[in-house]
Amino acid sequence: MTMITEIKYKKQICDIGKRIYDKGFIAANDGNISIRLSDNEFLITPTGVSKGFMTPDMIIKVDREGKVLDGNPPYRPTSEMKMHLLVYQERPDIQAVVHVHPPYATAFAIAGLPLDQAILPESVVYLGTIPVAEYGTPSTEEVPNAVKKHVLDHQGVLLENHGALTWGKDLENAYNLMESLEFTAKINWISKQLNGDRELSKKHVQTLVEMKANMGINGKSPLGVETTAGNHAEKISSQLKHSLSEHDINIIVKMVTKNILTELKKHL
Ligand SMILES: [Zn+2]
Repeated sequence: MTMITEIKYKKQICDIGKRIYDKGFIAANDGNISIRLSDNEFLITPTGVSKGFMTPDMIIKVDREGKVLDGNPPYRPTSEMKMHLLVYQERPDIQAVVHVHPPYATAFAIAGLPLDQAILPESVVYLGTIPVAEYGTPSTEEVPNAVKKHVLDHQGVLLENHGALTWGKDLENAYNLMESLEFTAKINWISKQLNGDRELSKKHVQTLVEMKANMGINGKSPLGVETTAGNHAEKISSQLKHSLSEHDINIIVKMVTKNILTELKKHL
């Protein structure tokens, strides 16, 4: 990762910080944003500052354990860092994570209601279903443990009595998912006031889900509809199993080398 790329990502985190603030997704110093730089390097927002007014020098670099690698005092990483690191650990395909407390989505999180109705075609295709991850005390292992149950087969979760978390292939994607999550919650709430939160038919959802699969978008869909190609969670976990880590490759190389040497000795 070059220095220039790192600066670019720090600036992008500040830009998205301003957008979540301007959108009213956070109050005071709430919310946090992170980006994966490499297997063991992550940029993350500091605790105790408004995310609407950050500058790149405030962004902190941590490793996969959350240890600070680089940062300017007095800035310290967010206390909600563990749930970001959990997402990166479980999903090597994810490059960015956004956590905020948007009012409508947070109200659903307080009511314990998942966003799993088939009410808008765009939400069916781009967002999929958003479950509620059970409540955990902020900053404890309870939060990542609750998120872990949903991380493979969704693009985000509602954090019970807390807020929302989305993850994406880049920061723009993670942010857009959050915007669409909050929009879906808002429309859902308004349509409920009219007693009119009518769902799309299973047939219509099936058509949308096939479109979604063709676009390469992962995650569970409303009404339990799956693509004819099969379950997304299974697909993701098998993809992940197939992408070997450097550690695995080293072990395989050692085993193969040892076998070749044994064979050679036999023939000498
Ligand atoms: Zn929070």
